[in-house]
Amino acid sequence: MRVPFLDLGASYRELKEQLDCAYHRVMESGWYVFGKELESFEEEFAAYCGAPYCVGVANGLEALTLLLKAYGIGPGDEVIVPSNTYIATWLAVSHAGAAVVPVEPDWSTYNLDAHRLEAALSSRTRAVLPVHLYGLPADMDPILAFARKNGLAVIEDAAQAHGARYKGRRVGSLSDATAFSFYPSKNLGAFGDGGAVVTRDPKIAQRVRVLGNYGSSRKYENEVIGHNSRLDTLQAAFLREKLRVLDEWNARRARIHERYCLGLRDLPRLTLPAVPEWAQPCHHLFVIRHPERDRLQRHLHARGIGTLIHYPVPPHLSEAYGFGRWQKGDFPVAEEIARTALSLPLNPHMTDDDIEAVVEAVRSYGG
Ligand SMILES: *Cc1c(COP(=O)(O)O)cnc(C)c1O
Repeated sequence: MRVPFLDLGASYRELKEQLDCAYHRVMESGWYVFGKELESFEEEFAAYCGAPYCVGVANGLEALTLLLKAYGIGPGDEVIVPSNTYIATWLAVSHAGAAVVPVEPDWSTYNLDAHRLEAALSSRTRAVLPVHLYGLPADMDPILAFARKNGLAVIEDAAQAHGARYKGRRVGSLSDATAFSFYPSKNLGAFGDGGAVVTRDPKIAQRVRVLGNYGSSRKYENEVIGHNSRLDTLQAAFLREKLRVLDEWNARRARIHERYCLGLRDLPRLTLPAVPEWAQPCHHLFVIRHPERDRLQRHLHARGIGTLIHYPVPPHLSEAYGFGRWQKGDFPVAEEIARTALSLPLNPHMTDDDIEAVVEAVRSYGG
């Protein structure tokens, strides 16, 4: 590949000195689980998000699952989720023992369409779980108003939205509780797995802490049936270094987004990502849509441009959620996005030549 979709080694190479230093700091400290380094990261990431509490956990799926459990959501309950998301959003609800109620996204933002929430409400609904897909915040005000009116919790899946803003406010400070992933390819990525819960509710923060530590706040006293779900001290030390450059790297992403939009705006069959005026995305992915997506992808690969599809199978059509409960046609918006979406390379380490090569390769497809 002349322009790979992503080269994770590039982020190590750019920050090698700081990361190697963090590695030695942790290795020599003798503390490998919990400890000062994790506490400092939790404080720094909470402050970055504009929320009082952050609790590190094992990964993004765990952040969502523990949050749902912290709200007491479980068997017999329903949680409203987007029909088009990475399947982990749904898995968290299932792991908590509750039922997913999918709602179709808005055509232009690909995020949860608040107009469709009312129809999904039942006497069992306990929470809404919006996802800020591709780094674009969901339209939170109508979602929050709907939740308030109906006494529901709002739990955000911000696995793709580190640093994104909604009406000027940072994701992580918009609702009661937000889940982040630090999977290596995310905007704030670790060098292994990691995740965190960010909240303004001290009780929820404490419950997630207890749930992630075997259900125990004091050694050998177990209050609930917990998980072992911790953010490694070493990953926390790496994340502290990467948090320092997150805004700068997000700004590089924004510039690439702009260059792509300028270079591709006149192609009639191509749908570019829309950015509503209230959103400041963090540009996790640059997702275009094209009626001949598969042919366009082959065309780009033949020209050395790496692309991916986020995501080729909507959760309701996966084998995991099949069971005959849903079938093709049940969520046509999610299915059409799965059929036509294509992610172009967008990462902080692309050169101007890389960006030009991608634009030219897409243009050479002809429409
Ligand atoms: C990555 C991702 C997750 C899961 O995070 P992990 O850390 O891989 O468990 C959940 N939701 C969305 C939208 C994601 O992109």
